[in-house]
Order: sequence, then C-alpha cells, then structure tokens
Amino acid sequence: MSGEADTREGAQIVEILLPVAVDMAYSYYAPPALRLSPGDCVEVPLATRKSFGVVWSVAPAGGAGPGNLKSVIAKYDRPPLGETLRGFVDWVARWTLAPRGMALRLATRAVEEAAPETPRVGYRLAGPPPERMTAARARVIEAAEGGLTFSKGELARAAACSNGVVDALVDAGALEAVALPPEPVAGALDPDFARAPLEAEQLAGAEALTSAVEQGGYRPFLLEGVTGAGKTEVYFEAVAAALRAGGQALVLMPEIALTAQFLERFAARFGAKPAEWHSGVSERKRARLWRGVAMGEVKVVAGARSALFLPFSNLRLIVVDEEHEAAYKQEDGVAYHARDMAVVRARLEGATIVLASATPSIETRVNAQTGRYGYLRLTARANARPMPRIEAIDMRANGPERGRWLAPRLVAEAQETIARGEQVLFFLNRRGYAPLTLCRSCGHRFRCENCDAWLVEHRFRRALVCHHCGHVERRPHICPECEAEDSLTACGPGVERLAEEAAILFPEARTLVLSSDFPGGQERLRRELAEIAAGAFDIVIGTQLVAKGHNFPFLTLVGVVDADSGLGSGDPRAAERTFQLLNQVTGRAGRGDKPGRALIQSWQADHPVIRAILSGEAEAFYAQETRLRERAGLPPFGRLAALIVSAKDAGAAETHARALARAGHSLPSTDRYRVAPAGGLPEADEIVVLGPAEAPISLIRGRYRFRLLVKAPKSADLQAYLRAMLAAAPKERGGVRVAVDVDPQSF
Ligand code: ADP
Ligand code: ZN
Repeated sequence: MSGEADTREGAQIVEILLPVAVDMAYSYYAPPALRLSPGDCVEVPLATRKSFGVVWSVAPAGGAGPGNLKSVIAKYDRPPLGETLRGFVDWVARWTLAPRGMALRLATRAVEEAAPETPRVGYRLAGPPPERMTAARARVIEAAEGGLTFSKGELARAAACSNGVVDALVDAGALEAVALPPEPVAGALDPDFARAPLEAEQLAGAEALTSAVEQGGYRPFLLEGVTGAGKTEVYFEAVAAALRAGGQALVLMPEIALTAQFLERFAARFGAKPAEWHSGVSERKRARLWRGVAMGEVKVVAGARSALFLPFSNLRLIVVDEEHEAAYKQEDGVAYHARDMAVVRARLEGATIVLASATPSIETRVNAQTGRYGYLRLTARANARPMPRIEAIDMRANGPERGRWLAPRLVAEAQETIARGEQVLFFLNRRGYAPLTLCRSCGHRFRCENCDAWLVEHRFRRALVCHHCGHVERRPHICPECEAEDSLTACGPGVERLAEEAAILFPEARTLVLSSDFPGGQERLRRELAEIAAGAFDIVIGTQLVAKGHNFPFLTLVGVVDADSGLGSGDPRAAERTFQLLNQVTGRAGRGDKPGRALIQSWQADHPVIRAILSGEAEAFYAQETRLRERAGLPPFGRLAALIVSAKDAGAAETHARALARAGHSLPSTDRYRVAPAGGLPEADEIVVLGPAEAPISLIRGRYRFRLLVKAPKSADLQAYLRAMLAAAPKERGGVRVAVDVDPQSF
C-alpha cells in the first residue's frame, strides 16, 4: 500500500445540505481526520465563499482521493442535527415544495454564524482604592463592595456612571476582572412545584394526556374548551408528565405578545420560566438555547412557529395553543402551517401532541370527530365562572348618529361599567385612523402606488400607510387631483378614530389604544398588557392583538364595534374566521371575579355566525360549515394548493399563469393522481386546476399577481402533481415568480 493511500484511509464522500434556496445536497470530499456523521455541522467552500452546511449522508471514499470534489473545511463545534429533525426538514420541504435548503435554514439559522461565545466577565474589588478618587469612582467602589462579582454594565448602572469609570478602576488595580461561568440558558423546572387543583373535566383531560405522555409514541389530541375553561392547567399536567419522564416539551403560541402572561403562569406552576423562542430573543441567546435544546438541558420551550425546528433530543410533548390561529401559517419563504407540521414532527418524534382551542379549525375538529385524534372537551369555565352574556346591537335600528361608531346602548353600558371600577374593551380589527381617505369634491381616493389597496390614514403618525407594502406618504392638505382645500375626508373607523370618539364620550377615563402599530416594541407592549391586567386602564381600544388569549381580570364588558367586517370577503373560511375571532374577543370578558358581558354591533344580526356567537351554540355552526366544506371538496375533505404567479409586467404574469394551467390540465394521469381533462366535468377522484384569475389583491409591491387553485381529492398525491405541473411549464421570462402555497389559509 502506498503512503498516499494510507492517508486516505477513512476519507469520506459526504452529501451536504446548505441553508440556501437549493433542493439538492452537494457532494464533498471529507479528509480522514474529520470522521463525519450524518447531522454534523460543517464549513464547506461554496464558489468563492465559505458556507455553513449539514451532513445529510456519508459514504466511505474507498481509497479514492477528492478527485474534482471540493473538501470539507472543518467540522463545527455544534451538536449534530438528529435523525428525526433531518427527516422533518425533508418532510417539510416535500410537503411545501420549498427547496430543502430553505427548510434546513429554518432549523439552523440560529447557529449558522460561527460567532464564538464571548466569555462573561465579572468585576470585584482587588486592591486599595486609587489615589485619584472622584465621586463616580467612589460610587463604583461602593457598589462593588460585599465581595460579589458584577458585570461592567451592572456596576456602571449602579454607580450612574459610564463603563469607562470601571475600566479606569481596573487599570488602577482597584478592581479586577474575573471570568464568570456561562449564564444558565433555562431555569430548573419542577413538575411538582405547585400542582393546581383540577375540576372533574380538567382531571379527565389531564389524565388522558399524562398517560399518553407516559406511554410515549405518537398520540394526537384535540383539547377543546370554552374560553376560560382552564385548558392551560390541563396541558400543564402533560408538560409535568414529560418532565417526570426526563423528556422535553414544546408549547407553540400564535403571538409573542401573548407569552408574558403565559411565562408567569408557567413559572407559578413549575418554579421557573420555560425558555422563550421567537424573533424578539437576541441572536446570541438563541444560539445558546439551540445548543441547550440539542443537549437536552432545556426542557421546555415556549415559542413562535419557528420553535418547531429546534433540535430537541428527547421531545415527548408538543402543545399547539390556539391551534386555529391563522398566524401559524407562514406566508413567505417556506409556506408551512406550523400546526400541521407540528403534527408531523410529533409523529416523527413519537410524541404526544395537544391541539388546544376554544374554536378549533374545521380540519382539526373533523379529525377529532372521526377518531383520528383523541377528543378532550371542557364545557364550562373553571372556578364556576359563568360564560359572558352576549347580546347583539342591531345597527340598522339602534346604531349611532353619522360619524360616530359606538351605539348609544354600548356607550351607556360602558359608562356604567367604568363607574363600577371595571374595564371595557372596544374591539375593532382595523389599524390606524381610517381605512380610506377620499376627496369630497372630486372623489379622488388615495391608493398605494405599489399595491391594489387603499392607503390607511394613521393620524398619530400624520401619514397615509399601505398595510401591504409599508409605503408611507404624508397626508396632504389639498387634494392632489383637483387641488380643493379642506376636502379630504376620512371614511370608516380605525382604532385611532375610535379613540378620538372615546375621548369625547369618556373624558375622564384612562384609555389605551393597542394595535401592532403600538410604538416601543415588544417590551413596551408587554408592559402595557401587564398594566391592563393590573387594572391601570378603564378603556382599552384594540385590534386582534388584545383579543386573543389574554387574561384581564378586571375586564367585564367587551364591545365589538364592527362584527361583520370579516364576513364579506368571499373567502370560504371567512365565516369560520369571524366565528373564531368573535368567540375569542367576547371570551375576554368576565375572567376575573365579576361576570362578563359582550355587546356585538352588527349590520346583519341574523347571520349564522352572529347567531352562533349569541347562542353560544357552536355545534350547529360547525355542522353547517363542515357540510359546506364537504360538499365543495375543500379541506379536510379534499386537498388544496394555490399558485401565485407574479411579475412586474402584468402580461408576463398572466401568460405564465395560463401556461401553468394548460400544463396542469394536460398532464397524464398516473398511479399517484388522476387529472381531469381540460374543459370536461371532473370526476370525484380527479384533480382540477381553477383559474388563473387575478389574485384577491392583484398588485402587491409593484408585482401583478394571478392565482391558480389546484383542487385534489384526498386520495391524490397533490405534491407529485404540482411538481409535474411546474416542471411541464418552465418559466420563459425572467422576473416571473411562482409561489406555491399548499393548504392556503385564505382562498
Ligand atoms: P383557557 O386557556 O381555557 O381560556 P385558562 O387556562 O386561561 O383558560 O384558565 C382561565 C382561568 O381559570 C385562569 O385564571 C386559571 O388560573 C383559572 N383556573 C383554571 N383551572 C382552575 C381550577 N381548577 N380552579 C380554579 N381556577 C382555575
Ligand atoms: Zn402598498
């Protein structure tokens, strides 16, 4: 054997997936010293750069040299991606038709940058005070007394001076710097820290969940319970079971704004907070959490949908709270639905999954009713609290005068509520001041220059804003069209306008307006939410940001300002969405000691959705919606995908959309799917392509959009069909984009 062959002993050919918009893994040569295994994180050359990558498969090089393969540069010091997570990445990519590299990116983004941990440094007193003393130096020395070790920032803050003063004291030998152990990434959780007494229905639910977690294996459940039923306490018992079994648990939440209260409740039950995972967590912290999760040190993560891609090593439980929320659907990049993919991950991990909601999606409810999921129900509020009493205000007969939005009855009841020292929530799901601005003299309407959308006036910002692309312009004083002065009129209400009305009607009340435009970021938002819970406001005016999940004990009256606003969109999910939202927002009332009420202002008070909300009878509503879906062959009875074809040039977009539709119709049937011939009536087991038609918003950010809907029976392999369709109609012009959305949430 030659010396050269010896040094090749143990060399490998590895397939490496890179976190870029490419589906395939690339082959690299791995020199013997590396000894790579699937899941290892590596650094590889890519064109003229270096890239992060993950080993997807490994084969011995069999004595061959690198040939024309490039060599892996190094193996990173990161825990490897486990087999189930790699399988999950493959699965998500296959399901969504996203390039596998983009799905990988969801899993590795937190650790792709090789930022080394900077060791934490603390300071403590070391020697005699320096000869030259100043007031600031004296304060720092005083702060550092007691033998404890403080960070530079802590010392500087305590002494109200700059970091430079601390540095100077170190130079003078009065303080010394010492290395501190790394901050723990998560507190220790005790499954028995403070067990809550559960009521009968809660107990039954908790027992079903704990025994599923104890047994292990994939076990899906729907936990359906009215608002305030105490679902959280029930799934906390499942978390406790996962902890006792030495495993990990993941709790997904639709809005990060929700998590503050949740973290407190969690800490009260388990003695420490869970690890938080969302875009508001610093990059460095995320990198450390990622490792902690992979090493099994972090036991429970509460997070936004991206937490689903964390490298859990022993995941026993996933909870998807408010599982019906549209926020679980990621719209751009990898268009995945976190609730559905959570079920997939649970299956791959062999874990229990709990989908919790007061108003489950039709999909999940059907799965529970057909026995695919365990069905746990809580039919009453915990602690014998009554459900809120809900009444409608018929706006046709009892609405306010022109230019006002709050009906006299709602105003009167709000006044009484505030006088009793209780809280009122006015809910209006519209940001800004007014959704449309027009000129009274020429009829000119302000629309976005990039989008097919009206500009929304934001009076506090003195601007007109596009809610689709973020375009902002100043609100002029004269009409840009006819140059009339003082002719511009705001049409319709937004939360800011409602605040103006409330200021007139309730001049004494402490009022807070909350929407996603709220300045000051997550931290300030969390503080305000805590203030509401503490009773610091009489009136809260808010969008869906305040409608969901929060526990405001002083809130006893909810006024829904425009209950019908979501109903007219023509979207088949509109009724379901409105039902869920109204249920959520009315459910905020009466969660404390006093009973709650809700008044719903509606122009169509006899609409089935409004009737279902008033009666509290969800069954009939669900039954009807489910029937409609079944008859139309829509999910969960059929499968659906939307293809959005967009381009700067409307003609190019439409031409390609037509080509795609033609390609779809002309595909031959295979054993994976059957295709309806163009023009003919489709059979029940055939796939049909509908459209193209202009997308519901036909222009966004300067791109014209056309939409195709692909409707398939459950038996069809929709993804295989979509792949064939996309391959059969290659893009002929640059600049045309096709976005595939499997299981679109609005259509
Ligand atoms: P949901 O998530 O179902 O809307 P929560 O879990 O937020 O309801 O619970 C509503 C309120 O009821 C919370 O304040 C919670 O602490 C309280 N609660 C839950 N279970 C019980 C119980 N068994 N006894 C007393 N209070 C309870
Ligand atoms: Zn726009």
